[in-house]
Order: sequence, then C-alpha cells, then structure tokens
Amino acid sequence: MEKQYDVVVVGGGPAGLTAGLYALRNGKKTLVIEKSVFGGQIVNSPKVENIPGFEAISGDEFGDKMMSQVMFQGGEVFFDEVTKIESDGQLATVYLDLSEPVSAKTVIIATGTKHRTLGLENEEDLVGKNIHFCAVCDGNFYKDKKVVMIGGGNSAFVEAILLADIVSNLVMLQDLPKFTADQKLQEQLDKKTNVEKHVNTKVLGYEIQDGKLCGVRYLENNEEKIVECDGVFLAVGLIPDNDRFKDLAALDSRGYFISDENGITKTRNIFVAGDCRTKSLRQVATACSDGANAAIQACNLLNA
Ligand SMILES: Cc1cc2nc3c(=O)[nH]c(=O)nc-3n(C[C@H](O)[C@H](O)[C@H](O)COP(=O)(O)OP(=O)(O)OC[C@H]3O[C@@H](n4cnc5c(N)ncnc54)[C@H](O)[C@@H]3O)c2cc1C
Repeated sequence: MEKQYDVVVVGGGPAGLTAGLYALRNGKKTLVIEKSVFGGQIVNSPKVENIPGFEAISGDEFGDKMMSQVMFQGGEVFFDEVTKIESDGQLATVYLDLSEPVSAKTVIIATGTKHRTLGLENEEDLVGKNIHFCAVCDGNFYKDKKVVMIGGGNSAFVEAILLADIVSNLVMLQDLPKFTADQKLQEQLDKKTNVEKHVNTKVLGYEIQDGKLCGVRYLENNEEKIVECDGVFLAVGLIPDNDRFKDLAALDSRGYFISDENGITKTRNIFVAGDCRTKSLRQVATACSDGANAAIQACNLLNA
C-alpha cells in the first residue's frame, strides 16, 4: 500500500522547505521530495546578503540550515524526482522516478525554475560535459584553462567572479549593448585581470573537435568570430519546468503557474509556491513567504 501523507511538498528549495516547516508546525505528516539539492537555487550563491537574520551567509549553509530545521520538526525528506501527480481533489498520487508512488491529502508544488539554454546544435549533449551552469560545482574542472561565460546579468557576474580565480582566462559574451549586473558585482569583476568582456554579441554555435568542445562561434559587429576555450558556463536566465503538472494547475504563456501568494490552483488539494508561480520578485524572502502561505492554505483544507 502507498505511504500516505497529509502534505507532500515537491521541491526542497526555500519555498518547499518553508512550506514543510509550516505544515509540520501545524502537526501534519509531511514529506519533502527534492530531485537535486536541498536548498534549491540559492546553494549556487557563495555569499547571500539579503536573507533576514544573516548579515551574510553562503547559500549552501543556508540550504543545510533550512533542511535541518524541517528534519528537527519531524519532517521526512528524500531525494527523488516527481514525474507526475494525479488528483481527484481529495487524494493525490505523487509518482516518483526511482521509488514507489506516495499518496497525499494535499500537495504543494514548489519546483522553482531551471537554467535556460540557447537551443544550439550539440548543446544538449555537451551540458554536464563542457557546458555548465554552476561555478561552485564545476569551476574546478577548468583550473588554469580558458573558459567562456555566456550572459551578462547578476548570475553571470556571480559565477564569473568565482571562475576568474580558478581559470587562466575568462571571456564574457553578452548579447545586449551593456552588462546588466549590479554595480557592486561589476566592480568586483573589474578587479580581476584575466577577464575579457564583449557586448553586442550573438552566439552562433559551439566548435567541436574529437567530440569535445573547443570553442564558441559568435557574431560581433556583424563579424563572425571564434573564441577558443575548454569550457562554457551559461547564465542566460531561468525558466519554469511545470509542464508535467499543467492538468492540475493552469500555466501562463511562459510556463509559470498562475496563482497568487496563497498558492491556490484549480485543483482543490494542489497548491503552488515560490519561483514556479507568476510573481514580480523571485527571491529567497518571497519564496519563503509563498511556502508559508501555501502550507497554511493546505492546513486549512485539512483542518476543515
Ligand atoms: C546564482 C543565484 C544567486 C541568487 N542570489 C540570490 C540572493 O542573493 N538573494 C535572494 O534572495 N535570492 C537569490 N537568488 C534567487 C533565489 O535563489 C530564488 O528566488 C529561490 O531559491 C527560489 O526558491 P524556490 O524554492 O521557489 O525555488 P528553487 O530554489 O528553484 O527550488 C526548487 C527546487 O525544486 C526542485 N525540483 C524541481 N522540480 C522537481 C521535481 N519534479 N521533483 C523534485 N524536485 C524538484 C529543484 O531541484 C529545486 O531544488 C539567486 C539565484 C541564483 C541562481
């Protein structure tokens, strides 16, 4: 027989773990399922300075603290990917990639966003081999090597500042006329002497030799150029990954769940929270707020 929970939370980022915490504080049997890293996207940030209560903390440490707090309150957590959810409005079945399905009286979907790619030839095959998203995770593969960073916003600069201390040369390719990262980040990167920056570029493709990436082909001032490199880091934005849940909760044209801060969806016992929903500010503070609200809505339904 399927294991049954009052609340199953899909995603162990700030929204999901806060939802878990609030459900547990309401005395609900709660499970949080995470497919990759507890803590969510924020673990990629080595220094976070705008989480209330911490002057500065690494995203990794913050993720650990959130998960420990959920476990301390008696929550169950485990690693797996939720592949599908079915619900009749009373009881939901949550299907998992590696384990047997679990059933839940309520489900809170807090799946955040995933990294956007450029959709170029061979890109999918190279992701994880020579194309990466996270300097903390994969930067050390490129010690004293040449790397290209594609992107020019805050995420690109956070990653580039870390990479510049590891690699021999870092080339930044931005498609806009200027870099859009915060001034403070731009000043930090300007201090590095091994970084070359290009704006108004368009990446056309990846150069491959013997199955390995060896360069990036791009346009600059209408001139086609190739920059040789050993690896590429992509920071060109984030997109939601909600398609598999669209029968339960409506999506907007960009794929975000259409919902307000209460996380209510068209399915009575399915709630959404955090970066995966339509909202104007995607940050840890707003994700935590969403998680708390969605959990209280789920608890109200369970208590009714
Ligand atoms: C480099 C970087 C720096 C940032 N810096 C800051 C900052 O300084 N301050 C700040 O406030 N915010 C910052 N942010 C934004 C912040 O990290 C996000 O707003 C916040 O993490 C959103 O939380 P979330 O729980 O909604 O989603 P996420 O953090 O994205 O968590 C969602 C989780 O769900 C999991 N998941 C997805 N689908 C499934 C599935 N099918 N099954 C199981 N698990 C699933 C994912 O693996 C992920 O762990 C930064 C983001 C990045 C990328």
